Amino acid sequence: MIKADAYGVGAAVAARALVGAGARTFFTATFAEALSLRRTLGAAGRIFVLNGPEPETVARFEDIGAMPVLNSLAQIALWAGRGACAVHIDTGMNRLGLSPHEAGAAAERLAGAEVALVMSHLACASTPAHPMNAVQRARFMEAASVFPPAPRSLAASAGAQIGADFLFDMVRPGIGLYGAAGLDGDNPRLATVARVTAPILQVRDVAPGATFGYGATDAAAAPMRTAVAAIGYADGYPRAASSKGFAFHHGRRLPLLGRVSMDLLIFDASAAPEIRSGDTVELLGDEAHIDDVAAAAGTAPYEILTTLVGTVRRAQEAA
Ligand SMILES: *Cc1c(COP(=O)(O)O)cnc(C)c1O
Repeated sequence: MIKADAYGVGAAVAARALVGAGARTFFTATFAEALSLRRTLGAAGRIFVLNGPEPETVARFEDIGAMPVLNSLAQIALWAGRGACAVHIDTGMNRLGLSPHEAGAAAERLAGAEVALVMSHLACASTPAHPMNAVQRARFMEAASVFPPAPRSLAASAGAQIGADFLFDMVRPGIGLYGAAGLDGDNPRLATVARVTAPILQVRDVAPGATFGYGATDAAAAPMRTAVAAIGYADGYPRAASSKGFAFHHGRRLPLLGRVSMDLLIFDASAAPEIRSGDTVELLGDEAHIDDVAAAAGTAPYEILTTLVGTVRRAQEAA
């Protein structure tokens, strides 16, 4: 899954790494992403476009060797008479996909067409014991049986970890490729894919009672050494991590003080008294694991990747 610029990591670099690791089937959200992915891949590899065809793009899929995921009877009508495609059945997300009761009509209208994949998507796979998982699996089995035999796919990253009977013929991992397992609890720690660092601009020693940043929301209880890093919410660092975030400096954890500013963060560097301006701190990486960063910001690792990693990487590429 390389939608959203491969979750902020960069679609081209991710696609090349994934091809090197043996991936041969790719999913994008949009036609524009598929077009750019095709340039990266050359002629090799299959590309499915999750959002399906639109009147403006429908005639161009075959030119670029991409297949649409057909999500509705309207998209099936739009695709009529064309080549291979995937079919998406909505089994409980109420997002994209054919409703199960439309499966019969869809299969009839696709008679003679090459259906390369029948898929659905789980709403609650991040909670392995959630009853919705089995309900969606049963709906998927039933609706998929209406179509001529084709490879089937139900699970994304989380679904791939909740039981062998969710694997079917193909899984569609996204977040799991980019460093987070995507489960709510008992999350296995995956290897780091993206690292975000920032330089320290200033170190200061403050007296008890000194307050930090806008709103003076945190104060020093004791004499304290602080370090100011050149990164903020304009770089995609979540403002919701105010007073809760952290950075690492040579293995020492530095708590974030006060509010996240636009371009600056203030850290309690008491644990790293030798810190100097010009040093680098890690905001995301091997030590600042994405699962912990997301938890501190009260968000999901998906958002940390697409927002923080995506913004920092685009800025670096533009520089
Ligand atoms: C985004 C997406 C995936 C990948 O999900 P992850 O949780 O990132 O593994 C798989 N299938 C569909 C339909 C998606 O939209």
